[in-house]
Amino acid sequence: MMAQCPECGYRYCESTANPREGFPPGTPWDAVPDDWNCPDCCVRDKVDFLILTDSMGNSPGIDVCRK
Ligand SMILES: [Zn+2]
Repeated sequence: MMAQCPECGYRYCESTANPREGFPPGTPWDAVPDDWNCPDCCVRDKVDFLILTDSMGNSPGIDVCRK
């Protein structure tokens, strides 16, 4: 699962997650609290994030996670 902030484009990938925010790599998106703010812009909440999928409806590969 991968989700992107609609404000700043920050991407949350389950494979890398965000250890700085207390989510070790592998943390499922579902485990992130709904009131979690985007760590980059602090403007958007988790519920505002866009779920990214490819044309087949699958989550994109890990290469997309790296900016
Ligand atoms: Zn953001």
